[in-house]
Amino acid sequence: MDSPLTPPLTGQCLCGDIKFRLDGAVHRTAACHCKQCQRWAGHYWPSCSVSEDHLVLTHGSLSLTWYESSDKAERGFCIICGSSLFWRLLNNPGGWVAIALGALDSPTGLSQGEHIYTESAGDYYSIPK
Ligand SMILES: [Zn+2]
Ligand SMILES: [Zn+2]
Repeated sequence: MDSPLTPPLTGQCLCGDIKFRLDGAVHRTAACHCKQCQRWAGHYWPSCSVSEDHLVLTHGSLSLTWYESSDKAERGFCIICGSSLFWRLLNNPGGWVAIALGALDSPTGLSQGEHIYTESAGDYYSIPK
C-alpha cells in the first residue's frame, strides 16, 4: 500500500528530543501482537514500514539507542523518555524499518493494517476487527 507523502510524515518521542521525518512512501502497516512487542511497548505495537534510507532523524540522534531484542532484530528507543520508536532486522542495511504509528504526528492518513502474531496476543484484550 504505497501512498504519496506530501508533506512527509513526521514524528517524535514522548520527550521530544528525537524527531524524525519519513521521506519515502509507507510500505506497510501492521499491528504486532508478539510477546516481545507487548513487553517492549506495554501492549501490541502498531507500526508502519519504510525503507531505512527514508527514515531521517531531524533531532536527537544521540538519544536514540538500539536494543538487540533477539538474534534477528533490534529496537530503537529514546534513552531519555523510553519511547518505543523503531524496529529493524539486524545486518540488513537499506532494509525496512518499522516506525511506531503512535509516534507519528497527526494527521497520518494511515490505517493500522493487518494484525500479526495474533497467536501470542495477551488474554486481556480482543483483537480489533
Ligand atoms: Zn524522548
Ligand atoms: Zn512484535
